[in-house]
Amino acid sequence: MELQLQVENNTLYMCLIVDNKIISQSRYNYCLNWMQGGQSACANFAKDVVFQKTSEKGTHRTGFEITGSLGNTIRFKHIFTQSSTQQIQEAITISNISNKPVEISDLSCGFQECLADKQDWRLIAVPFRIQVDGRKHDYTCDQLIKGEYTNSDGEMSSVFPSLLKGALRSEAWLWTNNKIGLLVGKYNNDNIEMSMAKVQSKSDNSDSFLQFGGVGFCLFGEPSDAKVLQPGGSFTFGITHYEVYAGGLEHGFRKYTSFLNSKGHALPATYNPPLNWEILYDIGWYHSDQEQLSKHFTLDKLFLEAEKAKEIGCELLYLDPGWEECEGTSLWDEKRLGKVSEFKKTLQRKYNLKFGYRDSAWLYRDEFPHAWYHCPNPVADRGRSNPSQDTHRPQRLWHFCSLCKEWKQEKIERIKKTNASGVDFMMIDEYCWFGPCFAQDHGHNIPTTASDHAKAVFDLVKSVRHNSPDVLIECHDPLWPWGCRYLPTYFKQGFGFDAAYQENWGFELMWECLKNLKDEGRAKVLYYYAMASNIPLYLQISMVTDNDQCLFFWWAASTVRHIAIGGKYHHYDSRLREKYCPDTEKRWNCYKQAVKLYLLLKEYFVRGEFHGLHEEAHLHTLDGKIGGVLTLFNISEQPLKIEAWIEPEMIGALPNSELESNVPDNIEWRNGKLHVSVPLEAASPQVVLLGDACKVRQKC
Ligand SMILES: [Zn+2]
Repeated sequence: MELQLQVENNTLYMCLIVDNKIISQSRYNYCLNWMQGGQSACANFAKDVVFQKTSEKGTHRTGFEITGSLGNTIRFKHIFTQSSTQQIQEAITISNISNKPVEISDLSCGFQECLADKQDWRLIAVPFRIQVDGRKHDYTCDQLIKGEYTNSDGEMSSVFPSLLKGALRSEAWLWTNNKIGLLVGKYNNDNIEMSMAKVQSKSDNSDSFLQFGGVGFCLFGEPSDAKVLQPGGSFTFGITHYEVYAGGLEHGFRKYTSFLNSKGHALPATYNPPLNWEILYDIGWYHSDQEQLSKHFTLDKLFLEAEKAKEIGCELLYLDPGWEECEGTSLWDEKRLGKVSEFKKTLQRKYNLKFGYRDSAWLYRDEFPHAWYHCPNPVADRGRSNPSQDTHRPQRLWHFCSLCKEWKQEKIERIKKTNASGVDFMMIDEYCWFGPCFAQDHGHNIPTTASDHAKAVFDLVKSVRHNSPDVLIECHDPLWPWGCRYLPTYFKQGFGFDAAYQENWGFELMWECLKNLKDEGRAKVLYYYAMASNIPLYLQISMVTDNDQCLFFWWAASTVRHIAIGGKYHHYDSRLREKYCPDTEKRWNCYKQAVKLYLLLKEYFVRGEFHGLHEEAHLHTLDGKIGGVLTLFNISEQPLKIEAWIEPEMIGALPNSELESNVPDNIEWRNGKLHVSVPLEAASPQVVLLGDACKVRQKC
């Protein structure tokens, strides 16, 4: 099994070879559309192409350097590097060789594969095979040819630019026949880029081609820095990573995890996020209503939450909206809550709890000089007010501009003050984009782009992190914060100090979690995410919207590295409390038992290796330990037997060796693999302990 680059008739081909037989051959294709001096032009092929074989001294790396032109305006340099027979990396730089600026309206290049003889092949999105909106992005050839595919888009506003349509976007794709596959990933940590895939067909559907790899614009025209090239200017796109693998989709997902690890997104050995207690479900959200806050968001109420957190075994008290003088100001309300340093001390001393909170930027009052605010297009958006009404809020909110230096500096200073006595965890939420900003004196390009906004927010978050080096930060996507992501999951993430933040948001699956899993299937997004990457997610859930079997608790524990629980009574939403109507004390005790076991096994869940056996069977293992923790889920309404097959090397055991388990009658070695089969009641989980993981049973 290997990848080979070949040049024939002045054209580049990539071949996937198994047992000396070419099973897939794709041809490189270029297409560029541009505007110059008010004229539009198009080039559908490269000219003056020169191929040069390369090899790196002292390494096994070989490849090609290809130069050529698209029209008389753009010169390109392509570098293909092959570090092994399994992997190829591609980088392309384009330069404007004319004496006038060039506006690129579309650039689309990549390998094209004929779909005619690929009927048993599929195109699968990584990590979002299942998206947060419930859509499955796993397409047969037939679906691709018929155009039965679509992107999952997130929150949109009428003031945003139009989304680019036509091509499928994902961080990475698997192109596979289920026996062998090709991972095609795009990596760019400086500019927003996606791995694009598109189908080109003749009108009679004969000779349809799938184009993948290479480069292409997506979303609001990203990478936006490539859109305009000044004379002599150039742009280098992010690399495309091609890698072959054998086996089913889980092997392809695992290749993507390894690739991201190699790019600096691995989990550090010391990663140990606290189990958070989320106060919002029982205290409520009052949208800066001072009267309500003085009744419900008080020190007494917070310490009642701390009592619950301590009793159930949580390690951190997490404050959602309500701690500020007014939301979006980042000012701790000292009048109502006393000094933040005192509050933190009491949490530590009396409850042995760490301290965390949510910071937001959407302003509930006219806090700053108006010159700092977001300025809409004076022509197209005339009449648009700032503040404006959001459908989910009782009052109008003020829009900031993340690229206004004065606003940014003031935010950083205020957060620094709240964090002066230490903070263990922060959530960065509602640093939203309000469309392009046209303010003349903010020191940014006019108009701003989505990409400018995202980078400015991450820059602010990085400063916060540098001021509080020990803080663990979850940062919502600054473009589409609450559902499908806009940004690649790795963008500016990492544990080193060159990264802005460590954890991604768990897609807002915090309001009716069991319904999201059981009835809608949307929460399966967490399974595919966990299988594709070690970049931690953070998610908080309410026990009221779960069941007495703690099905969603275990689903979250199994797929999300950092979790929060809360909601003994769920005062926040009486509609949900009445809908789910649990026996409060019974549910509390069920959760208490679940948390006790979770804490004993926490190491496996927060930093163990995640093996997706199938959607309802997840294995967690630790280096150097035999066995592991297998979580099984029956998410249906009927009793079911849930089965799983485990390769012995996954659990560091020899085939047929004796293996301790909490369900010894439900495991056996069969044909060299460990077979686990457990009958489960409707909507129930089972935590199966194998080998060394059984040691925790003495503590249960
Ligand atoms: Zn601005």
